Amino acid sequence: MEVLICESPGTLRYGTRNAPVPGEKETLLRVRRIGICGTDLHAFEGTQPYFTYPRILGHELAGEIVEVNGTSAFRSGDIVTFLPYFSCGHCVACRQGKTNCCADLKVCGVHIDGGMADYLVVPTENLVAGRGIGLDALALVEPLAIGAHGIRRANVNSGEPVLVIGAGPIGMGAMQFARLAGADVIALDVDERRLAFCRERLGVPYTITAKEDVLTRLRDITGGDMPAVVIDATGNLNAIQEGFRYMSHGGRYVLIGLQKGDIAFSHPEFHKREGTLMSSRNATRKDFDQVVQAISQGAVDPEAYITHRVTFAAAGEAFPSWLDRKSGVIKAMVMRD
Ligand SMILES: [Zn+2]
Ligand SMILES: [Zn+2]
Repeated sequence: MEVLICESPGTLRYGTRNAPVPGEKETLLRVRRIGICGTDLHAFEGTQPYFTYPRILGHELAGEIVEVNGTSAFRSGDIVTFLPYFSCGHCVACRQGKTNCCADLKVCGVHIDGGMADYLVVPTENLVAGRGIGLDALALVEPLAIGAHGIRRANVNSGEPVLVIGAGPIGMGAMQFARLAGADVIALDVDERRLAFCRERLGVPYTITAKEDVLTRLRDITGGDMPAVVIDATGNLNAIQEGFRYMSHGGRYVLIGLQKGDIAFSHPEFHKREGTLMSSRNATRKDFDQVVQAISQGAVDPEAYITHRVTFAAAGEAFPSWLDRKSGVIKAMVMRD
């Protein structure tokens, strides 16, 4: 089968591999859609901390079942997505149902080869039924689930001001699920075009560009309280460190984004707020189910995010251009028959 391999940072090439064979309790998928994620772009750049090379990228996937090995409610021909986080099932995190942060986690397309290929084998227990959702939207369940998980971690209450820093697809997902939780959503980004998208397409009532006086704007918007929840979806060290100053007294700060360095913040400022700092890693089945339901009900429309579409044959050449903000990319989708 044909694959697109990231040989090393900056190098993508097409190659061939033997088609995988599903083992016990595994399912063989024909890959139909591959969403391109910031993680894929950062892997290509060499700035994502969990990558080794060579690696076949791609974890935002929709596929068609070719073969299920073992008993399952799924059948060949079913359209599905799946949780691309392959957990061990017995570590301390897995025993608590936190399979998203398994101590021995293998993320498909990160720690092990992913879906930039004709076929892929996945654990049958990770499959998520398509429930009539289109292939494009189905491939975007995973990035939306990351945002939904961050909002779940923050335990967002109705009426709370929630600041989401970073208006990429992950931040946009967090905004949408914060809005569904009844929050007053505030988006902060450097890119005015993306903020316009948040206002016009996602119904975000407040947006702030990074070059404004952010503290003053936040005070104005929140009546002096400041955001009860701050979500980082940038993975940018400066943005993350600034974010501590935006949190209300008694507030929560959730890091969805990831970067390679150490974080420094003022202990007295954090302490006087009795702040809560947490990371939010991947997502759980509960998050996937919530996203699938929200898409089925029309509460979120991930297809609005898709700005670029390419064939698998053209993906290798187009890939580097998506690193450039000037491309206007929000979400690129690789289409397959
Ligand atoms: Zn992703
Ligand atoms: Zn585990």
